[in-house]
Amino acid sequence: MADDWEKPRSSVASIDFEEEPRVTLPVSQRPKGHYSLSDFYIHRTLGTGSFGRVHLVRSKHNLRFYAIKVLSKEKVVRTKQIQHTNNEREMLEAVQHPFIVNLWGTFQDTSNLYMVMDFVAGGELFTLLRRSNRFPDPVAKFYAAEVALALNYLHTLNVIYRDLKPENVLLNQDGHIKIADFGFAKLCPNTTWTLCGTPDYLAPEIVSQQRYNKSVDWYALGVLIFEMLSGLPPYHQPEPNPVLLYERIAAGPAYIRWPAFNADATDLIQKLMEGDPSRRYGNLQHGAGDVFAHPWFREVDWEKLRRREIMAPYLPKIEGDGDASAFERYPEGDAVAGYGKQTDDPFGHHFPDFEYMQT
Ligand code: AMP
Repeated sequence: MADDWEKPRSSVASIDFEEEPRVTLPVSQRPKGHYSLSDFYIHRTLGTGSFGRVHLVRSKHNLRFYAIKVLSKEKVVRTKQIQHTNNEREMLEAVQHPFIVNLWGTFQDTSNLYMVMDFVAGGELFTLLRRSNRFPDPVAKFYAAEVALALNYLHTLNVIYRDLKPENVLLNQDGHIKIADFGFAKLCPNTTWTLCGTPDYLAPEIVSQQRYNKSVDWYALGVLIFEMLSGLPPYHQPEPNPVLLYERIAAGPAYIRWPAFNADATDLIQKLMEGDPSRRYGNLQHGAGDVFAHPWFREVDWEKLRRREIMAPYLPKIEGDGDASAFERYPEGDAVAGYGKQTDDPFGHHFPDFEYMQT
């Protein structure tokens, strides 16, 4: 392969200082647990992010498996992502949906922040897509429909997600999706303007640094459908060049070489990737209703889908609880040795909602 298309793509974010008064979500009704590192056996790494890694862990109490995301406070502060990280905790705590990963609780020690989540065993949609090259139309439609339901749910809470891509769509043991990584999710009743997301998935108004609203998530759904059907995102270049990529995104679909998709699929992608947000599907008078009613989704029974009663097209091969073979291997290094160690703690005050664990 000449390029890195098999490697997960990193998200990008500019400094995240808040430009408007902070609005908060109603506090979730779900009781949150009080956790500490000593509650868990730490197993292998499931994934890495810019600030740390995600581990498979097992509870010493109920012997169930969970995933713990560990973020280095020092790295979060150095890259000026404090607000994004606090948003991630707040948004994940407030949401509860069959297609969104569940957050059980959070805590911190002197160096790191910890987020205890469900372990989603089937791995990333990204891995399945790269292994399959591309998905047949009905398979892409199934995942797109589940993503559309999750986005609509978030938007009804005024939460904008901002990092849709196959790397962040995980597959449960039963093949249904769980969206993870709320690192850029934010309560956004109106508009915002921080540049963040993953380059291939950025809407033109983000690239041109205008204010934008929740419709950037619908734009990203268009990109996701395109990538699922063709194997590559619409403006993919063998040699990554962000300037050229952003020029193409701004120029719009004229630059896209359209593969021979089903005509309804092409039509929906074009309506979602509409450059003018005021004409974009998902952002019109009927909101998400226009997306749900689009002919490409004609045969979808949305209520059944939401109840997870539609059989998933692919069942991950899981050999029992705690089987993480669907995840790529990462060098383990010695990160774990530092967890829970007493160190100086110059940054803890930035993260007041992450409780200090008992040592
Ligand atoms: P994140 O930094 O949240 O994007 O996580 C990095 C990677 O860790 C993801 O792309 C997944 O491969 C993996 N991961 C994150 N959360 C979970 C989870 N709850 N269950 C299983 N794997 C996860």
